[in-house]
Amino acid sequence: MLHDPRSASRPKGLWLPRRVLVTASALAHAHGRAIAERAEGLGLAVERLATDRLPLDRAADPKRGYAAAKSTLAVVVAPPSKLKLQPIAPSADWRVDLAEGCPAHCSYCYLAGSLKGPPITRVYANLDDISAALPRYLGQGMVTSRSDARAGEGTTFEASCYTDPLAIEPVTGSLSTLITRFGKWDADVQLRFTTKFAGVEPLLELDHRGRTRMRASLNPAAFGRFEGGTAKVGERLLALRRMADAGYPIGLTIAPIIAAEGWREAYGTLIGDIAAVLGDAPETADLTVELITHRYTPGSKAVLQSWYPGSDLDMSGQDRREKRTRFGAVKQVYDAPTMAALRGFFTSELAAKLPTGRILYWT
Ligand code: SF4
Repeated sequence: MLHDPRSASRPKGLWLPRRVLVTASALAHAHGRAIAERAEGLGLAVERLATDRLPLDRAADPKRGYAAAKSTLAVVVAPPSKLKLQPIAPSADWRVDLAEGCPAHCSYCYLAGSLKGPPITRVYANLDDISAALPRYLGQGMVTSRSDARAGEGTTFEASCYTDPLAIEPVTGSLSTLITRFGKWDADVQLRFTTKFAGVEPLLELDHRGRTRMRASLNPAAFGRFEGGTAKVGERLLALRRMADAGYPIGLTIAPIIAAEGWREAYGTLIGDIAAVLGDAPETADLTVELITHRYTPGSKAVLQSWYPGSDLDMSGQDRREKRTRFGAVKQVYDAPTMAALRGFFTSELAAKLPTGRILYWT
């Protein structure tokens, strides 16, 4: 029987891919080669490609195709467009992408409508080029760089827009590399990432100098059925506490807030659990809170329903209204009465149980 390192004794919630592909161009970059060696060190077979074309399985059965893609990590070179950063309000000034795609299976995943093609995770080998592009943006953003309320955060760079950077960290080391670089960057800057994973061990000893803020992306344990393949919510909270104890600024991303049956009780329990775990950490004096309600587009709904046909996540249109973005796209957000009930609840629960938490935005 073949040895499968992914089934060896490893911490629960630690993701290892079934297939690792490294393109020829990625192998020309030190970080690309380092990821290949790191993957081999974890016992994974690595396919070093002679070209940049990814030999992906096009399974006729969509279920098998989805499973194969979600368990594939491709190391590629980010296109030049990735070196030109995009603004990312309301979270941060700028978006910095270490990868695109995520191995987890959330039935609301916001990536479903944004990324094209099979849902493999593409991690970038040209991390040196990506981090070399950042100093150009110092003091240039429209969120923390322009806001009195968030001025203390400096110029902010968000690393979780198109991936969960902690999910892929065991194989890539990209997040640790960037955290260390921000630690050495003697400027008013902050790297930000949010995660539904808990493997923070490699980050605890880094010389971060307080220039990286980790947020745990949380939903109640009662809604765990919507978040396949992620770490349990209790593990995420303990990971956040460990990061706080290691001196990192921390925060909460409560997302997506889902008005499913029993939501008041479920989110009330979650906020109580957060207060119990973080309660006496000194970093809670600077605890940020981001509140994001569930939304979907016609495109993301179609993709998600094909990936997760058995999910009971409500996308029927009930209690929804349409919202048009600046670019003309249509999103289904909760209607005004549902939004008001959710917002009122979170505002009062957080004030009562996490009074030092600073709400950055509600959306
Ligand atoms: S952890 Fe985040 S990025 Fe990954 S599948 Fe879930 S929602 Fe999508």
